[in-house]
Amino acid sequence: MGKETLSNYCCGNLGESSCEVEKNNFCPVCEKQGTLVKNITVKHMVLNELTEQIGDNDYYLCMNEECDITYYNTKFNVKFNKQQVKVPIWFKKDADPKYACYCSEVTEDQVIEAVVKHGAKTVKEMNAITGAMKNSNCKENNPLGVCCHKIIQEAIDKGLK
Ligand SMILES: [Zn+2]
Repeated sequence: MGKETLSNYCCGNLGESSCEVEKNNFCPVCEKQGTLVKNITVKHMVLNELTEQIGDNDYYLCMNEECDITYYNTKFNVKFNKQQVKVPIWFKKDADPKYACYCSEVTEDQVIEAVVKHGAKTVKEMNAITGAMKNSNCKENNPLGVCCHKIIQEAIDKGLK
């Protein structure tokens, strides 16, 4: 599936910049490299009573499934753990439920079920069956602030196995 087809969904206006990772931005706890996440996304993810701590900076999301840390900014010495965000981060250990699409609250289990029971093989078929990627606002709903199609594709691949 090419980018052209996906632009009909939520990816069209987000660009690829959120995928870039700057050097030397390692998780203060596990010391693994994180992924850059825009400030607006972090503000929507972190618990309301903690949003004051966020400031106007962009953050990094620790991608280590074993690590308890989610968003951090080492420059300003701010970090949040799994308990301080509103939704389970899908790739973290014990995430429950494990969302594949945050905007439509479609879980990885639902995606796998659609593959096994309904024979869905592509993200497009998946969206038709599960309603994933409808009314999408990934910038605010997805923990990385990017379109969920990659996560859905990974869940499809799991279901196909
Ligand atoms: Zn970490």
